[in-house]
Amino acid sequence: MTGRKPGGKRPGTILAGAGRPPKHAGGAVNVPVYRVSTVLFPTLADLEAAEEKPYDTLYYGRLGTPTSWAFEEAAAEIEGGYRSVALSSGMGAIATALMAFLKAGDHLLMVDSVYGPTRRFCDTVLRNGGVETTYYDPMIGRSIAGLIKPNTRVVFVEAPGSLTFEIQDIPAIAETAHKQGARVLMDNTWATPLFFDAIGHGVDVSIHAATKYMVGHADAMLGVVTAADKETWFNVKATASVIGNNPGSEELYLGLRGLRTLQVRLRQHQESALAIATFLAGRPEVKRVLHPAFESCPGHETWKRDFTGASGLFSVVLDELFDHAAVARMLDGLEHFGMGFSWGGFESLAILAHPDRLRTAVPWSSSGPVIRFHAGLDDPDDLIADLDAGLRRLA
Ligand SMILES: *Cc1c(COP(=O)(O)O)cnc(C)c1O
Repeated sequence: MTGRKPGGKRPGTILAGAGRPPKHAGGAVNVPVYRVSTVLFPTLADLEAAEEKPYDTLYYGRLGTPTSWAFEEAAAEIEGGYRSVALSSGMGAIATALMAFLKAGDHLLMVDSVYGPTRRFCDTVLRNGGVETTYYDPMIGRSIAGLIKPNTRVVFVEAPGSLTFEIQDIPAIAETAHKQGARVLMDNTWATPLFFDAIGHGVDVSIHAATKYMVGHADAMLGVVTAADKETWFNVKATASVIGNNPGSEELYLGLRGLRTLQVRLRQHQESALAIATFLAGRPEVKRVLHPAFESCPGHETWKRDFTGASGLFSVVLDELFDHAAVARMLDGLEHFGMGFSWGGFESLAILAHPDRLRTAVPWSSSGPVIRFHAGLDDPDDLIADLDAGLRRLA
């Protein structure tokens, strides 16, 4: 987290300074919330000049405003990419990026441990549009070569896997995909740009559900896509603008505000999650800890090689002895962990996960209930005491 980004700045310095005025706000520390639909042009010549570069000048609200440019500038700089596109949600970002590079007759390779709704998008919208999806083992590495067809345009990676936390060998997959002319798209939400340099490891398009750690306070839906080069960026931007996938102004403001504190928040999420996972690993009720910093997690060595940290989200597999009613007793009584979707905010979460319902390439083999935790910003000792009591309720 202390390494320098291309351009020589350290991440904390980028997060404090990126996307800041004077360019956008005449000296105010924060860019204002620009509420825009119509933009008025004083002359026809002014309108025609704006038409030449509609993504870079204030032309029409859907295409960009000073608030979206500021957020996108900051996202691109912390990601070390060419340029970013802000979208209405994480799913909006994933769907738009996939649509930007796939058309009828194309083939997509999708990691089997992907976020559930991404899978549904492939199995519905993409399938209806004539795009074929093959799901692959997250641990496949270079052997992905055997699955690439002449019409494979995109290899989609997500590390760690949603719910189950496998760490993929991204450099190996990217090198193999590029040799065969496919682009690599990554859902990098878990690590944030601070813990995994996606573009530096060969990814062409790094995608974030900014809803999670970037916004960081469970109060806005937002997505962002960062492209490694100009052509890739243009494809995503042009797709987003014609399907009308643009975020609201308030959400962009909250995303930019969240970025300012991303590094300090992540330090605590990381420390608390490690403390909780270490506690859980020592408990007899817990069969296995699925946290990339633990040897029990598939791809742990790759995580050590490629990632610079671990965020606050991880899972455990409980002993198969515990049935649904026991898990309900544990979860229902937790005082500091809420039950609900999304994560990455200040609040702590615990949820029963069902990876067995999603997999098709490699069936999920661990029996026993899977619980996914998010370590929020509560005091970790209180969280551990809460879990200690919860585990006792299992019996
Ligand atoms: C939540 C999530 C998304 C979707 O983000 P939304 O903003 O809820 O649409 C995508 N990928 C991952 C890994 C997520 O956890």
